[in-house]
Amino acid sequence: MINFNVPPCADNAMVYIRECVQNQKICGDGAYTRKCNQWIEERTGTTKCLLTTSCTHATELAALLSDIKPGDEVIMPAYTFVSTADAFVLRGAVPVFVDIRPDTMNIDEKLIESAVTDRTRAIVPVHYAGVSCEMNAIMEIAERHGLVVIEDAAQGIMASYKGKALGTIGNFGCFSFHETKNYSMGEGGALLIRDGKDVENAEIIREKGTNRSKFYRGQIDKYTWVNFGSSYLPSDMNAAYLYAQLEIADKINDARLALWNRYYERLLPLAEAGRLELPTVPEGCVHNAHMFYIKARDIEERTARIAQLKENEILSVFHYIPLHTAPAGLKFGRFHGEDKYTTAESEKLMRLPMYYGLTLEEVDFICDVIMKF
Ligand SMILES: *Cc1c(COP(=O)(O)O)cnc(C)c1O
Repeated sequence: MINFNVPPCADNAMVYIRECVQNQKICGDGAYTRKCNQWIEERTGTTKCLLTTSCTHATELAALLSDIKPGDEVIMPAYTFVSTADAFVLRGAVPVFVDIRPDTMNIDEKLIESAVTDRTRAIVPVHYAGVSCEMNAIMEIAERHGLVVIEDAAQGIMASYKGKALGTIGNFGCFSFHETKNYSMGEGGALLIRDGKDVENAEIIREKGTNRSKFYRGQIDKYTWVNFGSSYLPSDMNAAYLYAQLEIADKINDARLALWNRYYERLLPLAEAGRLELPTVPEGCVHNAHMFYIKARDIEERTARIAQLKENEILSVFHYIPLHTAPAGLKFGRFHGEDKYTTAESEKLMRLPMYYGLTLEEVDFICDVIMKF
C-alpha cells in the first residue's frame, strides 16, 4: 500500500524530545521554540517569527492584531481550508470569496479590486500547493485601499515569490506544521510578523494578554495582565520534534522536489496528449513540492481515477469543497462575482502521494498505473 501522506520525522527528533523530558523543560517558549523561531527568521528574513499551536491559531492572532471587527469584510478564495475563513468569522467579519485562477488554483488577483468595498479591511491570499499568488499585484491593491495583507502560507514554507519567502510579503504570514505539511510538529504553526510595530502586541496576545515575554528577556521585573489574549504557544517537546526537521530542511525540500519533478516528467506526455492536466508554476515562483496534483476531465473521471489507484493500493485524495457552498460559508460569507473556476476546477483536482520518504520507484509505479487508466 502506498500511503497518501506519512508525517515527516527526522533522526534527531527523539534525541531532542528526550532532552526536553530529562531537563524537565516541556512548557512553551523553551530552547527549541526559540531555535525554531530563529531558524525561520534567518531563513525567511522576516522581522519576527512566533511559533504557535497551529496555522489556524496564527491566523487568529493575525486577525486580532489587525483589529478585525464585526461587519468588516475580508477578501479570500473559496478554494481553501476552513481555517482561512474561520479566523475572521470568529471576529464577526464577513469572508468575501473571489474566484481562483485555473492554472495555479490561487485567488485571481485581477478580480480582487472589484470586490473591495468601504467595509473591506484585509486580503488573505492562500499560496496553494506552495506556489505563490501574484503578490506584487495584491500588495498594490492593498496599498491603494489601505488594506492589511495576511498570507495563508500554511503550505508555503521554503517557497518564494520573486526572491521573497512566502509569508514575509504581507503584514503577517501564517505557516502550518500539521502532520500533512512539509515540516511537522504534529499540530503547530508559526506567525511571521513583517513590521516591528506589531511584535510587542503579538507576544502579549499569544501569552494570555500578559507581558511575560518581556519578563523572560529581563526587560521588566514582573509580568502582568496588559491586554486581551489567549494561549497560542506550543509545548517545547513539539518544537523539538520540528527543529530536528528544520536542521535538515534542504534535504527534505530537495527530496520532495525530486519526487515532484519525476511525477511531472513521467506524466507530461499524458498532459501533452490532452488526457489530464498538470500543475503550473508561474515565472518568478519557486515552489516547495508541497503537493503533486493532477486534474481529470470532470468529477466522474476523477472518481474513477481515484478508484483505479486504490485498486492498485495507491491512496490519492481530493479536497476543499469550496467554502461558499458549505453550510457555514452560506451563513457567514458571500461570493463576489462569478464562480467560473472555483467549483469546476476543484471537482477535477486529485492529489497524488507525496511525502518525505516516498521513493522515485514508487512514483514510477504510480505513474505507470495512471498511464493504464
Ligand atoms: C493546513 C492548512 C491550514 C491549517 O493549518 P493547521 O496548522 O492545521 O491549523 C490552513 N490553511 C491552509 C491552506 C492549509 O493547507
